Amino acid sequence: MSESRILLYYYFVPLADPQAIMLWQRTLCEKLGLTGRIIISEHGINGTVGGELSACKQYMRQTRSYPGFKGMEFKISQGGAEDFPRLSVKVRKEIVTFGVPEEIKVDNGGVVGGGVHLKPEQLHELMDENNGDIVFFDGRNAMEAKIGHFKNAVVPNTETTRDFIAEIESGAYDDLKDKPIVTYCTGGIRCEILTALMKNRGFKQVYQMDGGIVRYGEKYGNQGLWEGSLYVFDRRMHMEFGPDVKVLGQCVHCGEGTHKFYNCGNNDCRELILLCPECHANPSTNNCGKSECVKITSAINA
Ligand SMILES: [Zn+2]
Ligand SMILES: [Zn+2]
Repeated sequence: MSESRILLYYYFVPLADPQAIMLWQRTLCEKLGLTGRIIISEHGINGTVGGELSACKQYMRQTRSYPGFKGMEFKISQGGAEDFPRLSVKVRKEIVTFGVPEEIKVDNGGVVGGGVHLKPEQLHELMDENNGDIVFFDGRNAMEAKIGHFKNAVVPNTETTRDFIAEIESGAYDDLKDKPIVTYCTGGIRCEILTALMKNRGFKQVYQMDGGIVRYGEKYGNQGLWEGSLYVFDRRMHMEFGPDVKVLGQCVHCGEGTHKFYNCGNNDCRELILLCPECHANPSTNNCGKSECVKITSAINA
């Protein structure tokens, strides 16, 4: 069997003709047999694709041959085309949907006005310089933080990335406006935008975790300032940075420690919920807890 891989990448660069880039990328992926999801906008590209190792290598080479994408970095991880049911290459207004395409400015240096990038060791330096008085600000959906977050992080009340604007404009975080704030997300892309939006709204000392939780976890594992599991957007649902992980998640029914999200057993309910293996295996608790869902799942295997 031939080896296969997954490529994760994003790059902020002005693209005058996103439509042409989309057609080129789609043709390239089809030719190489890659599947996955690519979003292109006037601000750049964001993708996750999988396929044979040789095809992934060709994809990286050919994608970087476009002058605007010359500096693009790819994160290569285990997996392959089988992790994605199909290929989707789309043009959108934003490569991450904050709902403010007109506010985002991008030049050849990336997002204009974003927070200072911190490498994992620089985060620790910043921590020391401020005697530990820095604020971690979670740049993900609140659900993701249930199984893992930086120590004492502020977790905004967000169901989707679109909710951030209302959150940072709500006044709830105004006391942080003069403090050093470090935002973080899975791989860094959401913070590229979020930090610029925060600075535009009066947050003065804004930093972002370069490469996100993934890069920090690779460097410090569970021995640093990160606690718990990392929520990931593929069928694994979560990953850990070592065996000595703190279990932060709790089963919605019995409170047992868990880091595994499941879809509510009622197929019409799209809720993702934390369940322990036992409550997942039991029809009467394989649900989000809403009475309607309890009724439906209990009837499934009755
Ligand atoms: Zn349980
Ligand atoms: Zn439900």
